[in-house]
Amino acid sequence: MARIAEEFGTPVYIYSRATLERHARVFREALLPLGKIHLAFAVKANPNLAVLRVMQREGFGADVVSGGEMARALAAGMPAEDIVFSGVGKTRRELLKGLEAGIGQFNIESEEEGIELAEIAAEHGYTANCALRVNPDIDAGTHEKISTGKSDNKFGVPIDQAASMYQRLAALPGMNMRGLAVHIGSQLSDLRPLELAFEKIGALLGNIRERGGTVTHVDLGGGIGVPYKAGEVMPSPAEYGHMVARVTKGWDVTLMFEPGRVIAGNAGVLLTEVVRVKRNANRDPFVIVDAAMNDLARPALYGAWHDFDAVKPTGQRMVANIVGPICETGDTFAMGREMDAVERGDLAIFRTAGAYGATMASSYNSRGFVAEVMVDGDKVASVADRILPEDIYAAERVPEWLDD
Ligand SMILES: *Cc1c(COP(=O)(O)O)cnc(C)c1O
Repeated sequence: MARIAEEFGTPVYIYSRATLERHARVFREALLPLGKIHLAFAVKANPNLAVLRVMQREGFGADVVSGGEMARALAAGMPAEDIVFSGVGKTRRELLKGLEAGIGQFNIESEEEGIELAEIAAEHGYTANCALRVNPDIDAGTHEKISTGKSDNKFGVPIDQAASMYQRLAALPGMNMRGLAVHIGSQLSDLRPLELAFEKIGALLGNIRERGGTVTHVDLGGGIGVPYKAGEVMPSPAEYGHMVARVTKGWDVTLMFEPGRVIAGNAGVLLTEVVRVKRNANRDPFVIVDAAMNDLARPALYGAWHDFDAVKPTGQRMVANIVGPICETGDTFAMGREMDAVERGDLAIFRTAGAYGATMASSYNSRGFVAEVMVDGDKVASVADRILPEDIYAAERVPEWLDD
């Protein structure tokens, strides 16, 4: 860590190739008994090209939710046919790009989108492989901002309308309706809501087939939670695999999965340096670190917890508020945290920062974009250079007429 801080500066995200590979293999092994499966890494969790390459080498395709993510997955060497294109707001341009690239499956989130995609495909001589994303109206029991399967969320089509919609879409020229998709949320600590959702999909599958429809693929999404606190226990991939095997028995489809956080979350940390410790009388000190909410947004966005540990713990402990330098009270990583005692200049890490970390960064307060490195044994390499504020404002222009 000290060597990385010296060479690449702080704050810096550090990803472990070995941990990414181990998570990919454990996940795959848990699902092997299911027969025909397709694994698609959820690119939004960590879109770094080197991370995507690790996943590609592990035989994963990609779940993408924008044209930009599709371009990244292709740039990382993922075959187009292994890419699933999800998202409620795919533009006509993105749909056409996906068709041109030969994307393996579009997960359609509304009848309107399906009709548009069919029109574009027919017009340009393509056939779009599609799954209909269903909203099963199930509370995933996670943070409301990462719940996606309740009827008042924007995602998917209402399950009671799905069978007839599937039939109508399947009849359109340019359209190959081949499956169903479901994803009820992220950071799920309990498998029961997933199981309920999959049971509903099973019933829908039967209903569509009874009406003469063809379903060869079911995409079960992602969502398995990871421990953010030492000692926290989350469902294991093996438990998830057993549950899926139980619910999907007899479905006779290719099962597709879109794990993100469970692969990348604990394969990354955010390394930061303590700028100073601010001590006010009668309250916990503020440990001000050089990382901020623009680099790691989850605490500000969801009140999320990240374990914080000194790189060289002294054995001393302290209770402190951990904050960044940004001019927002929301730039707070933890309040009243019992933690390793740290001083100005000490290095520390935020753990479990490999998913929804660097990818959510912004340049707020003109702080630039944080660097990312990958380690592999004793090897270390930059996998994303730091983008400086100067690099960002180089794209900005002052119109000549301002000075007229
Ligand atoms: C975010 C997302 C995922 C990945 O979720 P994780 O909780 O990171 O596994 C998978 N599929 C879709 C459609 C998503 O939006």
